[in-house]
Amino acid sequence: MGKIIAVANQKGGVGKTTTSINLAASLAALDYRTLLVDADPQANATSGVGYDPKDIQNSIYECMVDGINAQDIILPTNILPHLDLMPSHIDLVGAEVEMINLPNREEKMKEALRPLAEQYDFIIIDCSPSLGLITVNALTAAHSVIIPVQCEYFALEGLGKLLNTIKIIQSRLNTELEIEGILLTMYDVRLRLSNQVVEEVRMHFQQLAFDTIIPRNVKLSESPSFGIPVILHDAESKGSISYLNLAREIVEKNSVEARPEETAEDER
Ligand code: ADP
Ligand code: MG
Repeated sequence: MGKIIAVANQKGGVGKTTTSINLAASLAALDYRTLLVDADPQANATSGVGYDPKDIQNSIYECMVDGINAQDIILPTNILPHLDLMPSHIDLVGAEVEMINLPNREEKMKEALRPLAEQYDFIIIDCSPSLGLITVNALTAAHSVIIPVQCEYFALEGLGKLLNTIKIIQSRLNTELEIEGILLTMYDVRLRLSNQVVEEVRMHFQQLAFDTIIPRNVKLSESPSFGIPVILHDAESKGSISYLNLAREIVEKNSVEARPEETAEDER
């Protein structure tokens, strides 16, 4: 069964969407069947893989609120054969309000996504910068969570609140939920501050921090404007290589077997 991983941090601009798009694309490039779920009304992950959110008819919103079959809204990305998208659009903003009165309102995304776990190796959920009901839904649907932390001033600010929310969800809604890892992003080797944040995170969280650190890399910030992940924009860039390393680290950590296609090719 596939693994569902939410990428969450209520702080904006820490690299959630960049991580979701490029981790999903790297897993797909390694031949793992991957679904990228856009759970942010800003729909940056949707446009980041080449779809205009204005053209989206049905989003994860319709799945959660109107009970539309998740299977029916999945789109192929047309850029990587193993990468599919569950898109978002601006109406997701209204979902939080409309869901308030639904029974099991925290479990709507889980109900939509869990049946899909059979047909994917990985499902990556890009969360919005809030700890509202949609993010609670994502953390309830997920097996694990990646927490991106920007190597900047106040990097750890708000992390306590997020970890506390995760604890509450673990005790009430999703006992399986694990922390996949804390991911340091936008690292600049020349900045003492960046190095201090790395030290601080490794000291506080030890084995929870991924070995892979994502550098600040202009190719990563350029690629969304082309509607493609960095691996298709510049595969040799530091950004592309680091997200591939993250994908490999996650595959190894979860002892996921190589896809049959890959094995077959190796044997040839
Ligand atoms: P979030 O989804 O947490 O709000 P984003 O992934 O959208 O954060 O990143 C915020 C901004 O920083 C975007 O403009 C993005 O292109 C840029 N960015 C993210 N990660 C990097 C990186 N490693 N190097 C350079 N720019 C980055
Ligand atoms: Mg985002």
